[in-house]
Amino acid sequence: MKIKDILDNRQSFSVELFPPKKTDSFDNIINTLDNLNGLDIDFVSVTYGAGGSSRDNTVKLSKKIKSEYNLEVITHLTCINSKKDEIASLLDEMKENNLENILALRGDIPSEVIYDDYKYASDLIPEIKSLGDFCVGAACYPEKHPEAPSNVYDIKKLKQKTALGCDFLISQLFLDNTMFFNFQERLELADVNTKVLAGIMPVINKAQFERIIQLSGCNVPPKFKKILEKYEHNPSALKDAGIAYAIDQIIDLMCHDVDGIHLYIMNKPENAKRILDNITGLRNA
Ligand code: FAD
Repeated sequence: MKIKDILDNRQSFSVELFPPKKTDSFDNIINTLDNLNGLDIDFVSVTYGAGGSSRDNTVKLSKKIKSEYNLEVITHLTCINSKKDEIASLLDEMKENNLENILALRGDIPSEVIYDDYKYASDLIPEIKSLGDFCVGAACYPEKHPEAPSNVYDIKKLKQKTALGCDFLISQLFLDNTMFFNFQERLELADVNTKVLAGIMPVINKAQFERIIQLSGCNVPPKFKKILEKYEHNPSALKDAGIAYAIDQIIDLMCHDVDGIHLYIMNKPENAKRILDNITGLRNA
């Protein structure tokens, strides 16, 4: 099923998983999938490249989720440093396996760029559309992409991605809902009418917090700083407080009728379960 059709019908709830690294076994991710089974999840996204995973494992995991777990899936695909023929053959493999949803990304710029067939996600989106009947999502940044010189610049480039055929957007994680609501306003002002799924990561330990701040540069509200200060030496209390904080964010977003919630669960299904248990009944049909 195409994700845009799911979004037309309900406020979605989805989770992101990352595949095993190149030579690692699939045992852990199978355990994760077994534990996600039965939860009210609309789709799973499978990252590419992050943490040294290979494109092969991204596609292999996507196939497994779809065929063995009967869950809808969106496969991430980055284009920087890729060749056009590589992308075309990957899209063929996806078509053969009925994988119809792709998150079209540029990827972070590597230290050495060998192939320059693609510069931006906006080069990849029309290509995917022309090579198959795919539903295409793209990334967006409520606090702007770190390389963008301004919010206005970033929104203009985002508008270009939607004009080129991107069907919906998934946001970078944020800890301050005001940042997301302000972003929605900028989209409305710029006449970008695409659905946007809000990216939420339950922060469950201090090391993870430091990593996400480094990666996303997101604003840290005073309430969140207080939680960290209070519980940084008590891992189990910090985990509980981090999950409670994420639930609070999600309830607020759902009450503001966001199009969907995309949860960065770091392959930890128990966190998705705890969150879902607390929001049952809140979702718009
Ligand atoms: P783009 O949309 O190409 O934008 C990159 C920058 O260029 C922005 O500053 C933008 O303003 C500017 N820009 C965009 N288009 C143009 C244009 N036509 N001309 C000039 N400037 C332009 N990374 C991975 O490696 N693997 C993953 O699986 C992965 N999944 C992700 C999932 C989500 C939901 C998000 C939010 C990010 C993910 N990333 C992943 C990280 C992503 O690859 C990086 O943030 C990367 O730096 C930008 O990718 P993008 O597709 O947003 O780039």
